Formats: sequence, C-alpha cells, structure tokens
Amino acid sequence: MARALSIPPDAEELKLSDVEVTLLIHPEHRHLADRHFDAVFHALRSFGYWYGRYPYRTLTVVDPAFGARGAGGMEYPTLITAGANYLSPARRWSPEGVTIHEFGHQYWYGMVATNEPEEAFLDEGFNSYSTGCVLEHAYGPNRDSTDLAPGVAWLGVPLLEIPRRPDPTTRQPPSRGATAQLMDAVWLRPFGPSDDLALNAIRDLPFLNYANEAPIDEETGWRRRYLRAPQADELARRSWEYLDTESYGLNSYARTALMLRTLEGILGPDLMLKTMRGYFQKHRFKHPTVTDFMATVDEITGRKMEPFFRQAIFGSGLLDYSVSDLSSEPRAAPRGLFGAAGARRTETDAGAAKPPDDDANRRNKVLLSRRGDFVWPQDVELRYESGAPARRSWDGVYRWLRYDEPGPKLRSARVDPEGRLALDVNHSNNSRARESRPMAGITWWCRLLQWMQHVVYFYSGVS
Ligand SMILES: [Zn+2]
Repeated sequence: MARALSIPPDAEELKLSDVEVTLLIHPEHRHLADRHFDAVFHALRSFGYWYGRYPYRTLTVVDPAFGARGAGGMEYPTLITAGANYLSPARRWSPEGVTIHEFGHQYWYGMVATNEPEEAFLDEGFNSYSTGCVLEHAYGPNRDSTDLAPGVAWLGVPLLEIPRRPDPTTRQPPSRGATAQLMDAVWLRPFGPSDDLALNAIRDLPFLNYANEAPIDEETGWRRRYLRAPQADELARRSWEYLDTESYGLNSYARTALMLRTLEGILGPDLMLKTMRGYFQKHRFKHPTVTDFMATVDEITGRKMEPFFRQAIFGSGLLDYSVSDLSSEPRAAPRGLFGAAGARRTETDAGAAKPPDDDANRRNKVLLSRRGDFVWPQDVELRYESGAPARRSWDGVYRWLRYDEPGPKLRSARVDPEGRLALDVNHSNNSRARESRPMAGITWWCRLLQWMQHVVYFYSGVS
C-alpha cells in the first residue's frame, strides 16, 4: 500500500536554511535539468522537515558522461552523482529516483554515519525507505514501470487505463480518465484493484493492455525484489556474509525498506515520522549501530519492539497470515435432553424442526492460519451481508484460530484489513469471501488470451 507521509503540522515553524544547488550536466541531458533540480528540492524539503535540516550551504549534483554510468549513483558529503537516459519519460521517476536516493545518503551514512560494510542495511535500506517516502510524497504513490508510448492519448485522455487501488491516505487522488471509467464499467471492474505480484507483472506487459501508465508503487517494487529470495538470509548480516550478491542487495535495500514500512504500519505514520526524526537527531554526526536504532524506537514509542526486530531483522521466517476457510450456515435446531426431571424431553434429528433459513442468525465459521514462522498480532475484519463490519484481534501465536459464532450472514473475512504489514509475503491469501466471484478469473483469462494473441501477431509480423 502506498502512503504519503505528511509534513508535520508545525512544519512552518521549522526553518530550513538556503542551499545553493549546482548541477553539472551534459549538453545532451540539458532537457532533464529541471527534473534534477525539482527532485533535489523535493528531497531537501522533505528530508529537512521530516528528519532535520540539511546543514551545509552547498550541494553539487553531477550528471555522468555517456558511457560512464559506473560513476553515477554515488554519494559523498555535499556531492552526489546521478544518472539519466536521454529518453526519460516524465512519469518513470528516472532520473528523480536516483537523484533523491543519492541525496538521501547525505543523511543515512553521511550524517548518521553507520558502518557500511558491516551494517549496509542501516544505510541503503533506510535510504531506500526514505527515498520511497519522498517519491510518493512529491510525485504521487505510483511509479510507472512501462511508458513505451508516451503521448498516446485521445484528447488528452489515456486510451486505456488500469484501475488503481484506492488509497484513502493518498494526498493526491489518482487521475481517472473518461476512458478508464468506461473500461472499469465494461471490462476491468470485475477484477478490481489488486496488489498481487504475479498479476501486476502481467498487467505491466505493454501488449496486454496498451496502457501508457502501468503503476507499481514503491512498496510493490520492494516486495518484488524481496520475494525473489525471502529466506536466503537474515536481514542483518555483514556485507560479505550474505549468501550471494543478490541476497546482499535485496536485504540491504528492499527488505529493509519493507521492514521500515511495516514498522510504519504498526506505529502509524505520525509516530513513525517522530521515531525516524528522533533517530536522526540523536545520532547525526555519530556512528550508531542497529542496537542504537532499536533503542531509539523503544524510547520514542514507549513500546518494546524487540519481538518485531528479533524476527524482522535477526530472523528469516516468513510473515504470512491467511483466512483459510469461511462458512455461514443456518443454525441447526438444538438436539439432546431438555427440561427438568419430570418434564424432560428428547429432541432428535428426526424430530427437530428444520431450522429457519434466517439470514440474521447464522452460524459463522472463520479459520485463520499462520503459514509462516513470523509471529505477529493480527487485526481481523468480518464483513456481513447486512450491518456493519466487525473487528477482531488475534495474537497470531498458535498456528490457527477458528471463530465459530452466531451472527448475520457472513460475506468475507480479512486479516490485516488496512494492509499495514508490508512484509506479509502473500497478500492474496489475506482475505476470503464466502461466494467465489468467477468474473475475476474470467477477466484475467481473457486479458491473458488477448495478450498472447498480440504477442503471436507481433512476432509473425517481424519474422
Ligand atoms: Zn544507495
């Protein structure tokens, strides 16, 4: 789920200082200069308000020469190197992403001077998380991953747009073209929004949908990387002790960002902001370790977060809770012996009256499962055919929990209904509905079939 952290309410009282930003850019990239500046200004402002003022008077951004990409994406105090392609579609967040990321290193490793070889995640991972927050805040929650046909639109309306997951916390509502609304109605609505990785991967294929905007938000991007090898290592290792380069990368960057996004989900955005700010303020120009970070979290939140950190940083168990089964049946009439001595009567199956099919008084059963080894309390939401949804809490400790209770006809159940636990490795098993909706599958099958036809047609033309 994408979230945009807000500027603290007292932000106007936080005085940021002037910074002279110099951009050294190659002539062939001159058209991207404003985008570099914009990105730097967004970063200066967000990092400044969220964590603390950028204390230096200058910042120099270097655009590496063609063929010198290896020199790009580097960070030194007050000097960063970025990187750009000549063709950089406006909504792909490149060069913005790398410019903001390298700026972020002024904070995470520059001022909060952690040990890069021994605790790379404190640097790259914290910076990935912060970069994502700035990108979401400055440019909206989504990043386009394919934009192969920029400008392909009809009267300014995208020819086809995929429904986005509505996000109540988003500052900017997603744009909804007229065509998109029409397509929702006739074709895409039955599927509805999704954050399923496999489906999103298909959705991003340009031949599938001819979409000029295929959004992948920051969290989905991190998840895609983390899920390549979620159990190869524990998150915190010394750089040279990870299984391989890929595991070093996914743990140091994406998994740490997901860990922090999950912590944000648990604490709430405001307390998370306060925590990150406290960590920066307390440890800038020092050399903190992960122990210092964890102590700062406990100190600021007033909570003991050791169970979370033990599993999320020093463990490799998967966080995966699911709704495994769900039913809502008419309640059976009671059977057995009833009444006091003398007036005792026996109700048997044969004699029992058929229970009325009363939708307001059903026997609802929900089976929740913990599929991974990561133990964390779960919020559960039960939705009914009528009436308000109900909330339950589960400590999540034992392997399963079953609710068996009377109530209105149950429609669906969901664990982690707000999607707070970004580390949950399978979001698609988080909910279950009593009635299946085959239209979702049929819609996807039709889209896949259409996509395959296009691919075959395309290659038959080029060969
Ligand atoms: Zn970095």
